[in-house]
Amino acid sequence: MDGKFTENDISHIVSADKAHVWHHLSQHKPYETNDPRIIVEGRGMSVWDHAGREFLDAVSGAVWTVNVGYGRERIADAVRDQILKMNYFAGSMGTVPGAVFSEMLIDKMPGMNRVYYCNSGSEANEKAFKMIRQIAHKKYGGTKHKILYRERDYHGTTIGALSAGGQDERNAQYGPFAPGFVRVPHCLEYRRHEQEGAPVENYGLWAAEQIEKVILAEGPDTVGGLCLEPVTAGGGVITPPEGYWQKVQEICDKYGVLLHIDEVVCGVGRTGEWFGYQHYGVKPDFVTMAKGLASGYAAIAALVTTEEVFDAFKDNADDPLNYFRDISTFGGCTAGPAAAIENMNIIIEEDLLANTTAMGARMMENLAALQEKHAVIGDVRGKGLFCGAELVADRTTKEPVAEKLAQAVTADCMANGVIIGVTNRSVPGYNNTLCFSPALIATADDIDRITDAVDGALGRVFG
Ligand code: PLP
Repeated sequence: MDGKFTENDISHIVSADKAHVWHHLSQHKPYETNDPRIIVEGRGMSVWDHAGREFLDAVSGAVWTVNVGYGRERIADAVRDQILKMNYFAGSMGTVPGAVFSEMLIDKMPGMNRVYYCNSGSEANEKAFKMIRQIAHKKYGGTKHKILYRERDYHGTTIGALSAGGQDERNAQYGPFAPGFVRVPHCLEYRRHEQEGAPVENYGLWAAEQIEKVILAEGPDTVGGLCLEPVTAGGGVITPPEGYWQKVQEICDKYGVLLHIDEVVCGVGRTGEWFGYQHYGVKPDFVTMAKGLASGYAAIAALVTTEEVFDAFKDNADDPLNYFRDISTFGGCTAGPAAAIENMNIIIEEDLLANTTAMGARMMENLAALQEKHAVIGDVRGKGLFCGAELVADRTTKEPVAEKLAQAVTADCMANGVIIGVTNRSVPGYNNTLCFSPALIATADDIDRITDAVDGALGRVFG
């Protein structure tokens, strides 16, 4: 810490937070007796709290966001220069960083061509849902309007996004939800024994075919879109089984279903490619992104689509209803694309995709070694610097450990100076997967420090 705060300042800040801030995803009762932790500074891979304690951040700002690490002066400079020159303009006029960044982004996404700016992952997903619905109206008289989503996937916090929410604990008590969203089964191979009829061989193919079954049951002429995470994040860090995505693509092509890939977590380098879907050779119609797009230096999200989708909104130009009648007020902030430009430049110049692949492999090796040592680790999964370790009470039955034990592991790591994550308020009974998503700048020492902390914590919590 740079020592700018006096003790009086700190106690004032803590009491102001305690009195007035409603924290995300938090039950506040414990704060009546415990102080909240305030994060006051970040540099590289580390953050410091109000008491001056340093933590190695293995989750990039709690929710896999700060891909290029903390304290990047060049992003701050670019944002400052841009907002002093022109901070905001929305509606039908463009901005300089919006145009420049769109060209950079499209260069990384062959087959895609149009960028629609907004300000959160939930909102970007809502835009895709609206476009799919509008295409259904324009092309099919409104019939092909249903949107499929997958068990365990999460697409955001708004009522529309929760309507496509595959995590029942997140949805509980917020219904009723929007009609026209239909759930398909998950594709977590480790838990295939819980899915009736799932085979040991060719599980990926079978899991994708379950989507086809839903399309046929609903009627292909009623299904307009399929929304999937490339690697499921908060639902348990679920990497797709072999052959899954190729079959999904085939099914979408066969039934004319628009494929919407939610890259809010995986996007912009997290898995070692610019986008998660690029590992699997699929051709999406919509890609949504947010968190790593500007690493949290400014709020920005985007929906990216093809020229074909874009063209569908240009026909019948005299019809006042025929274009995409949507606006996002803060989609006109220039801080977002200005930060995103530098964020992308950093990833390119520092070769962070290669580092992500190499450090992700090291993380998986270390986790596999921990799995050998600790019977409580039932499965390890990951792609790039996006990894998970699922904790089970019994390796044979695969019964998940009690949630409070998984949380005891994260608390122990925190007490030892390393912030890791755990699936949280997600799928009832399955809040048992430890999550790791350090910044893409992580070194071998950082990775080893993270897994050493987990090793110690598992030993202390499970003996
Ligand atoms: N999609 C996925 C896969 C997410 O993990 C999240 C948030 O964690 C969202 C969408 C929603 O993004 P936001 O919180 O920016 O609305």
